[in-house]
Amino acid sequence: MDILIGLQWGDEGKGKIIDLISRDYDIIARFNGGANAGHSIYHKDKRITLKLLPSGIFYPHIKNIIGTAVVIDPVALKAEIQQVQTITSDSDLIDRILVSQKAHLVLPTYKYWDMYYEDSPQYRTIGTTKNGIAPTYSNKILRQNIRVGDILSKDFETDVFHILNQQYAELEALGQDMPEIQELYTNFLEGCYFLKKLQITDTEIIINEALRENKKVLAEGAQATLLDIDHGTYPYVTSSNTIASAACVGLGVSPKLIDKIYGVTKAYCTRVGNGIFPTEITGSLADELREKGGEFGSNTKRPRRVGWLDLPALKYAVMINGVTDLVLTKADILNGMNEVPICTAYEINGETKTLAAVTFVDNAPRPIWKFLAGWDTPLNKINQTTQVPKELKLFISFLEEELNIPVKYLSTGPQREELIILGN
Ligand code: GDP
Repeated sequence: MDILIGLQWGDEGKGKIIDLISRDYDIIARFNGGANAGHSIYHKDKRITLKLLPSGIFYPHIKNIIGTAVVIDPVALKAEIQQVQTITSDSDLIDRILVSQKAHLVLPTYKYWDMYYEDSPQYRTIGTTKNGIAPTYSNKILRQNIRVGDILSKDFETDVFHILNQQYAELEALGQDMPEIQELYTNFLEGCYFLKKLQITDTEIIINEALRENKKVLAEGAQATLLDIDHGTYPYVTSSNTIASAACVGLGVSPKLIDKIYGVTKAYCTRVGNGIFPTEITGSLADELREKGGEFGSNTKRPRRVGWLDLPALKYAVMINGVTDLVLTKADILNGMNEVPICTAYEINGETKTLAAVTFVDNAPRPIWKFLAGWDTPLNKINQTTQVPKELKLFISFLEEELNIPVKYLSTGPQREELIILGN
């Protein structure tokens, strides 16, 4: 099984790369998160944001698996499938979506818990998307939640009614504004009954049997390394594990069966929401980079914070994930710059660090910069290694040397075909 993950704070352009390489696979499997992240891909020149559906959805030969550690909002999944159905004539679409019966359901009250925590002054404001993801994982750990397989139980409606009533009463007592409970209940059940049309199954068995038959499986991660609940910039992280090893847990596949690990990084850095960002830039330079890079949330349209490439953090991400192949995106956005800044080390409390877990710093790390020569060639016009401008080649060699892994793909624009294969 191969794995593809983001190496920064998300939005690295994973969707485009998965969309492109997925044609070589038999199964694409999502292993973490919920409908809080979006992968943007192009289908028939239309930009589509997939939130829960794996990115192989537009290839008729691919099975798409939503794995055990994913949390599923049935209302959101139903809407997403219906949206995809409006742009594809594939009549087998529904048959190609398999959902783990052990995946947890996002109950409609969980969004309101998110709102309550985010908006109450006595709690930390994380900057979540308020999709109810963290409350779902919390209730999973508390062993109070219900799972996709429960939809098939005869007691399902009664169980949902009981949990919703209890949570509704708690939220009301806290003064949280909410719609009528009946509305939440009815919409949720409608979403759940739609899910029954999909294959609700033991996805870990399907994946392992496919691997035994030498079929190719790609595990697709949502969010990214520095947002990992354990290894990211806690508390400003997502509520699931996002790193490569989480694919094994999330899909039920042994670490012995992992082959390639693709890590995607932009040629610069962005992050959404609060939290440490050592190489952040502000002011008109940041506005320019944000506009040029279209750095606004694909779900939320929130402006992303922007900054330069952060090598100590990237080295950490490559190490934690065991990346075998690097994918570099958005180098085209830096086109036309005289010099491209890269942070090569941090100075923290008088110490210089070239590899760093970006966390637990009393004093913000001071980036130490290296300036590489910029390039000035519209990259989306080129499609061969020999046409890559020499300055960008030096930028790539510098990364390869520092990270000790090859850059396999150079993405040269947002479209599917805007990509150059650099290595073998
Ligand atoms: P993801 O969550 O990692 O899949 O990232 P998003 O989909 O949120 O954001 C990536 C955006 O950048 C999408 O609109 C992509 O089409 C676009 N994109 C991906 N690679 C490139 C690239 O190399 N250059 C440019 N200009 N855009 C890219």
